[in-house]
Amino acid sequence: MIRLARPSIDEEDVQAVREVLLSGFLVQAGRVRAFEQAVAGIVGCKYAVAVSSGTAALHVALLALDLRPGDFIVTSAYAWPSAANVAHLCGAEPVFVDVLPDTFNIDPSALEETVKRLMASAETAKRVRAIVPIHAFGQLADMPAIIAVAEHYGLPIIEDAACALGATLDGRQAGTWGVMGCFSFHPRKTITTGEGGLVTTDDPDLAKRLRVLRNHGLDPDASKPDFIDAGYNYRLTEFQGALGLIQLGKLERLIQQRRQIARQYNALLSSTRISAPAVPPHHNPVYQSYVVLLPHILTERRSELVDALKAESVETTIGTWHVPLTRYFRTRRGYKPGDYPVTDSVFARSMSLPMYEQLTPDVQRHIVERLETLTNQAT
Ligand SMILES: *Cc1c(COP(=O)(O)O)cnc(C)c1O
Repeated sequence: MIRLARPSIDEEDVQAVREVLLSGFLVQAGRVRAFEQAVAGIVGCKYAVAVSSGTAALHVALLALDLRPGDFIVTSAYAWPSAANVAHLCGAEPVFVDVLPDTFNIDPSALEETVKRLMASAETAKRVRAIVPIHAFGQLADMPAIIAVAEHYGLPIIEDAACALGATLDGRQAGTWGVMGCFSFHPRKTITTGEGGLVTTDDPDLAKRLRVLRNHGLDPDASKPDFIDAGYNYRLTEFQGALGLIQLGKLERLIQQRRQIARQYNALLSSTRISAPAVPPHHNPVYQSYVVLLPHILTERRSELVDALKAESVETTIGTWHVPLTRYFRTRRGYKPGDYPVTDSVFARSMSLPMYEQLTPDVQRHIVERLETLTNQAT
């Protein structure tokens, strides 16, 4: 089977984890701290707070802004549902915004319209608490345009940068554009700690609040332990921290390899009816996933194609989710097709192709050849 994704784990990673396991100190002994400092150095932010997953990162980030029942966050309709879920679990409501058809990122003019509408009534205006753009598949959202909207209405931005460690726009790193940036180290991201996540920020008060929330509400600065809030246990283990440090050492190489694989796919797809992902000027994505769009005529037949490829030992999947049309949000809120037309279309036509370090040009040629042949047979 040609796998969709594989983590890049070698002997060095195993050795680092093994050392921690044999040391007898599995939590809170310095590796996580070192990992945080290393990420802060790479991203270029003052503080980095490691947590147990990307979803935990989003959860503590929203709580650090004091998100309350009845509040709104404004986020992308085409996304992994973490941001919407954690907002909902805070008692708040995600307000979804459609995406752009070429980059899959939140549409700044639709965002502007949505925020404007919410701000037009005093009753809803006071409930809008944050904009949470998602850097789709490791390519930054249009942050200058999003910041313009956020500043106009005085709203903070939390970046869902789960897929985007190392991605830049105008040379500026993901995770440095909002008041907080949330990363994931799930095995499908460029580097992994198994499960794991992290929040970046330049604000010392937010950093402290994040540290309190991830560790039972304990005051991280007090000389005598005391609980100053109701917190979670969202800590990363030491062996994950050690793994993360080794993984970070390979980040630049892994990103360059992904970009090379993407260039090769782009070239192979250029003569087909399948659209390669768009990269607007000044963007430097990391290709957490390489997501193509099938021709419109195949809108109803993507899953057939995924199955046919699987039967030929090529693993592919959808791009990501149409969050308003997942059963939970659809049944609670009555969303229907047509509410987010671009998300409707890209959700139906997107396909994620294999992307991992060991993927060779020959295998890529084979994947695209089979994809093209099966696409042509289906139409
Ligand atoms: C992976 C991902 C998450 C969730 O991260 P976990 O570490 O799996 O909790 C959230 N948002 C986006 C956009 C993601 O891709």
